[in-house]
Amino acid sequence: MSMEPTTKISGSCLCGAVQYTVSGPLRSVLYCHCEQCRKTSGHFVAATACSNEDLQVSDDRDLRWYRSSPMAERGFCATCGSSLFWRPDDNYICIMAGSLDRPTGLQASGHIFVEMASDYYEIADGLPTYEGGDPRAWADERE
Ligand SMILES: [Zn+2]
Ligand SMILES: [Zn+2]
Repeated sequence: MSMEPTTKISGSCLCGAVQYTVSGPLRSVLYCHCEQCRKTSGHFVAATACSNEDLQVSDDRDLRWYRSSPMAERGFCATCGSSLFWRPDDNYICIMAGSLDRPTGLQASGHIFVEMASDYYEIADGLPTYEGGDPRAWADERE
């Protein structure tokens, strides 16, 4: 897994009421098959991540937070419903990769929580798969 070098990248929800930029390295994209990600996205999630201080939400008038577990909350647009962020009580934040404007320059690096994947699709792209989270998903990447 690698931190992709990036200059500045922007993203938004579908209706544009939430706009953000990231000025700093982004993690490679992880696909998460956990039940929460399935329910919130309607399928599974593709997410990159950045350091909290590298994310600037320039327009947050419709940004709402839902505490989805004891350890994290999810940011979404109250108008259009776009799923945007997953924020653990930590120093980084995950960003739904599809909300980034293209080109992202990112690559996917693996699948996590595959034991919770639904039964109507196969994981067959050859990327590494992990039961539970990838322990390297964030911490080691900061070095
Ligand atoms: Zn919106
Ligand atoms: Zn998940």
